[in-house]
Amino acid sequence: TNKLSAEDFDYRMDELKALVKTAGGKVSGTLIQNREVPDRTTYIGKGKVEELKAACEESGSSIIIFNDELTPSQVRNLTAEMDMKILDRTQLILDIFAGRAKSKEGKLQVELAQLSYLLPRLRGQGHVLSRLGGGIGTRGPGETQLEIDQRHIRGRMTEIRRQLEQVVSHRTRYRERRKRNEAFQIALIGYTNSGKSTLLQRLSNSDVYAEDLLFATLDPTTKQLKLPSGMKVLLTDTVGFIQQLPTTLVAAFRSTLEEVREADLILHVVDASDPDYYNHEKTVHDLLQELDASTIPVLKVYNKRDRLTGDFFPAGDSPAALISAFDEQDLDKLRFKIEAVMEKEFAPYFVRIA
Ligand code: GDP
Repeated sequence: TNKLSAEDFDYRMDELKALVKTAGGKVSGTLIQNREVPDRTTYIGKGKVEELKAACEESGSSIIIFNDELTPSQVRNLTAEMDMKILDRTQLILDIFAGRAKSKEGKLQVELAQLSYLLPRLRGQGHVLSRLGGGIGTRGPGETQLEIDQRHIRGRMTEIRRQLEQVVSHRTRYRERRKRNEAFQIALIGYTNSGKSTLLQRLSNSDVYAEDLLFATLDPTTKQLKLPSGMKVLLTDTVGFIQQLPTTLVAAFRSTLEEVREADLILHVVDASDPDYYNHEKTVHDLLQELDASTIPVLKVYNKRDRLTGDFFPAGDSPAALISAFDEQDLDKLRFKIEAVMEKEFAPYFVRIA
C-alpha cells in the first residue's frame, strides 16, 4: 500500500527477507505492486499475477510469500491461478515460531495460533477433499467434510486451551537443557534483522569438538562460544521481534521467548543504524520485564556500527558495546566485554568455585 513511506517500505521488505532466511528459505526475487487498495480477489491484481507467474518460472521458485495477511479467498484464487505454494506473512511467522517453540506452553500457543489461522481457511481445501473422496455417504443431509473438519479443529482448540490453563497454573521452570550440560547460557535477543544470527555464526567457534557436534546439529540455534580466558559458554539465538506482529500471534510469540528466562546473560542486539532503534530497544526491554527476565544481566550490543554516519551515544546505564558484526576486532572486543560482564555479575560464584 502506498500509505507507507519509502523507508518504511524498504524496512518491511528487508524484514520479510530476514524472516524467510530465518525460516530456512532463500529469496530468489521480489515483486512490488503499488495500488491504493489491495485487489479483493488476488491481492495484487490480474496483470501482476501474470508477471509473478513469469518471474517464478524464470527463477524456478516454488513458494510465493505475500508481505501481508491474505484473506482465505485470495489464497484460494491465487492457488487456482498459479499452482504454486502461496504463503502470507502470518503463515511465515507461524512457521518460524513452530520451529523455535521449545517449552510445552510455547508449543501449545503456536498450535493454537496455527489452528485459529486455519479455521476460516478450511473452506476451499475441505471442499476439494470432500469432492475427491466423494461417493456414498458424502452427500445428502448430515455433516459435510468441511463441518467435520471444523468441528475437529474447534475440539482441538478447546483441548489446547484447557492444557494451557494447566501449564500456567503449575508453571515450572524448564531446566532440562541446563541439567543436560551445566553450561553458562547466553541468549541473543532483539529485532529480526538486527544481526543476531550473523553474531551467532561469527562469534562461535569453528573448532567444535565431535561430541558437541551432535548437539550443534540437533539445535542449529545454539552454538558454543569460547571466551578470551578459554571458558566455553553456550550462545542461543531466539525468535526475533517483528514489526507489526499480528495480534493473534502475540501470545505464541511470547511463549516462544519463554526460555530467555533460563539464560544467565542476555545479549540484547540493537541495529544502531535503524532510525527507530530507540523504540525497538524499549519494546525489548518491556517484554523482558513482562517475561520476568528483568533480573538477568543484560549486555547491549549496538550492531552495524559501519552503517552509522554520525556519532552514536546510547542512553541508559547497562553495559554496552558498539560493534560491527563483520569486524573481527569488534568481535574480539565483544568477547572481552562478555567476559567482563560475566565476571562482574557472577563474581561470588567464580570465587566459590576457585
Ligand atoms: P537477525 O534477523 O537478527 O538474525 O539478523 P541477521 O543476522 O540475519 O542480519 C540481518 C542483515 O543485517 C543481514 O543482511 C546481515 O548481513 C546484516 N548485518 C548483520 N550485522 C551487520 C553489521 O554489523 N553491519 C552491516 N552493515 N550489516 C549487518
